[in-house]
Amino acid sequence: MRSDLHEPGAVRAGMIGLATPNLGARERELVLECLDAGWVSSAGPFVDRFEKEFATAVGARFAVATASGTAALHVALRVAGVDQDDEVVLPSLTFIAPANAVRYQGAFPVFVDVDPGHWQIAPDAVRAFLKKCRRDAEGRFWNPETKRRVRALLPVDLLGHPADHDALRALAQEYGLAYVEDATESLGASYKKKALGTIAPVTAFSFNGNKLITTGGGGMLVTDDEALATRAKYLTTQAKDDPVEFVHGAVGYNYRLTNLQAALGIAQLERLDAFVATKRHIAARYGAALGAVPGFRPITEASWAASAWWLFSAEVDAAAFGCDRRELSARLERAGVQARPLWQALHESPAHQRSWSEPCPVATRIQSAAISLPSSTHLADAEQDRVIAAVLASRHA
Ligand SMILES: *Cc1c(COP(=O)(O)O)cnc(C)c1O
Repeated sequence: MRSDLHEPGAVRAGMIGLATPNLGARERELVLECLDAGWVSSAGPFVDRFEKEFATAVGARFAVATASGTAALHVALRVAGVDQDDEVVLPSLTFIAPANAVRYQGAFPVFVDVDPGHWQIAPDAVRAFLKKCRRDAEGRFWNPETKRRVRALLPVDLLGHPADHDALRALAQEYGLAYVEDATESLGASYKKKALGTIAPVTAFSFNGNKLITTGGGGMLVTDDEALATRAKYLTTQAKDDPVEFVHGAVGYNYRLTNLQAALGIAQLERLDAFVATKRHIAARYGAALGAVPGFRPITEASWAASAWWLFSAEVDAAAFGCDRRELSARLERAGVQARPLWQALHESPAHQRSWSEPCPVATRIQSAAISLPSSTHLADAEQDRVIAAVLASRHA
């Protein structure tokens, strides 16, 4: 059994997994077409086609495929102008990838708290931090504690649910910050009826095995800005100025997605609407069955959000529920149900000790109490009923 939330593959036989791939006949057909054509690596038509179809699906003008969501974030930060020793504001409650991407640019994260209802980066917490920053004659803002320049805001749409982008974008504008959106967990969600991917100047998605759609591993950067898209494509393909004589105009990366992966992506993308509908169906069923159980508090959907419900997660209050989330997780495991905690809050992470943190009591509380329940798009109602029964039985086990 793997224990990482982001490594869903190995689930014990008969076990109901957390979020495992949903692959069908169309995936097989397109991957075989790719194999038959011999286009397995970076040369070939499938990557271009996946980029075009993905851009259309989210309503953006341009999409650049990458080897992972983390790679998409790294390049997004670079093309947004984040530089060595800058600071980037992001939530403490998130998978670690966006914070790592900030460090790949030689910049530093600033961790801020999340809101207790929807668990997203809290605009009030961002504002409280920015208010303390000092403005210089050129209108740039500096963190007085670290003496580093605050350069960008990096909201994460956590667990399928969009962050409060209008409030956050207004802050970015007021303080002259670049705005890079991490929508890697939330493909198919919308904010005030606008699809994620059409909101920020640059947005990153992930096709890791446990995400809304998968290419095995992969990511996508989307933008409406042609110059930015061109620059991103250039950087992800080793910054080649002359592909014949191998002249490179910058230090780029091998962040390409392969055609084989893109073929899988094209097939998965055709099923995105159905996947999102299924995720919402699963969340609604969990909500109806467990939402009123004492001490079990699911993440709530904001009035301005249509969540893609990547994972159904809830806070478990041990006193009211009957056991804490660790014990609940162990009991579910014995019942053949894979449940998972959230990620260590990043302001407490040994990997990011050199970064500045604002107080993040809500992130700490949610992280210590939260559990995610099986949310795969192939989860049948009968299987979900088994999960629900196991949760209810765990209360007095
Ligand atoms: C999955 C994820 C990523 C990117 O993941 P990859 O595995 O690199 O595709 C980035 N940020 C968050 C919040 C994620 O959950």
